[in-house]
Amino acid sequence: MSDLLVFDPPRRGKPPRHLADLDVDERREAVAALGLPPYRADQLSRHYFGALRRRPEQMTDLPADVRDALAAGLLPALVDAERTLDCDGGATRKTVWKLYDGARVESVLMRYPDRTTVCVSSQAGCGMACPFCATGQAGLTRNLSAAEIVEQVVAAATDAASGALGDGPTRLANVVFMGMGEPLANYNAVIGAVRRIVDPAPAGLGIAQRHVTVSTVGLVPAIDRLAGEGLQVTLAVSLHAPDDELRDTLVPVNTRWKVAEVLDAAWRYAAVTGRRVSVEYALIRAVNDQADRAHALGALLRGKLAHVNLIPLNPTTGSPWTASDPRDERRFTRILRSYGVSTTVRDTRGREIDAACGQLATRAEISTNLGE
Ligand code: SAH
Repeated sequence: MSDLLVFDPPRRGKPPRHLADLDVDERREAVAALGLPPYRADQLSRHYFGALRRRPEQMTDLPADVRDALAAGLLPALVDAERTLDCDGGATRKTVWKLYDGARVESVLMRYPDRTTVCVSSQAGCGMACPFCATGQAGLTRNLSAAEIVEQVVAAATDAASGALGDGPTRLANVVFMGMGEPLANYNAVIGAVRRIVDPAPAGLGIAQRHVTVSTVGLVPAIDRLAGEGLQVTLAVSLHAPDDELRDTLVPVNTRWKVAEVLDAAWRYAAVTGRRVSVEYALIRAVNDQADRAHALGALLRGKLAHVNLIPLNPTTGSPWTASDPRDERRFTRILRSYGVSTTVRDTRGREIDAACGQLATRAEISTNLGE
């Protein structure tokens, strides 16, 4: 795989510029270019990031002509909720977003007893082609802009605050880049979005850095770049196999950056940030769930600043693979723990609405429904 393919996917036009694409200085410049005094940028930021107000009529402290000019210049409609689907007794909500050019992405909002988390998309489709992942099957449509990512988070925070998940209002406290796309293949937009998500209001949404997780197939140079951003976000590495022979088939980019290189980059990230790295491992029956693979993984992770997240495979249409036998899952967990490796099995949310890990595949779904 060439660098070009990984870092520079095709661009087909650009989403309109939005407040959430800009840092504080750029916002002031943009407002000045609209012929308004720069302090209006701070007022608009307080509405959008501080109070989650996105509609001009909600911004009652601003003169009508000013708010209309600000909205027209800096708050274009970027994401339009085409469908929302609820499950798990209302605690999980998937939203299908239609973007300005007709591309579609999905986000999933999950309420847990102790926290509310949104899983966001960073690309429409994905170019990484992992064979067990529904998004990977459709290929890459395009990168999202920073604001298209932030808008998913703002919408989720609004839903959580309005009590849309049942049981009263909650505060959105966690953001995981585990929806559609490979976040580190859309590096600049993802970092811009992360800064808007973590910067304190009014610059951003003020979500704790440690509660933001960026998940990657293992693009080594981009992991190193992320380590240099001065951020404390959690890095998740989608490993899925401890050996190159199997990982080459499950995560095709492994042919470029091997298991050892990916893990070395992860340990560099842990050393620089002090953050424990999350190692993602989808357990696939009779493919990667054998005892010897658990031992091999345990040996790789022993004594490292790592936590293993075992994900029971969510079967996707057309794939022969399925989740491990619960006994094999327990054995895998037990073996990893015997190496002193902290290990949990991920609670699977959203299965009935195709909102579970690896099931986000709007394009494929829609073309099937239309009989294309
Ligand atoms: N591109 C990023 C984010 C993808 S989704 C990455 O690969 O990390 C987040 C996680 O869900 C990844 O670990 C991914 O491998 C996993 N996943 C994908 N398809 C899955 C499936 N069908 N069942 C379980 N997990 C899956």
